[in-house]
Amino acid sequence: MLSCEEVVERASEYLDRDLGRWGRLKVRLHIAMCKHCNRYVLQLGLTTRLVRSRPADPLAPHVEDQLIESFRQAPPEA
Ligand SMILES: [Zn+2]
Repeated sequence: MLSCEEVVERASEYLDRDLGRWGRLKVRLHIAMCKHCNRYVLQLGLTTRLVRSRPADPLAPHVEDQLIESFRQAPPEA
């Protein structure tokens, strides 16, 4: 069984599917039993996906303005 440190070290490889079949299985076994690593891997996966789904360029200025404007007109808590 892998230690938590080993799982953390391998988490991004696991998410990128760079680990071999056996390596993935060992990580999966660990996160099935360890809620800390489970949460860590889940969080890392979400963050990675979010970062990668965005274009490399920063938000275009007019898009940012539109976002701010739409929040002004309809505040999220209203
Ligand atoms: Zn763990």
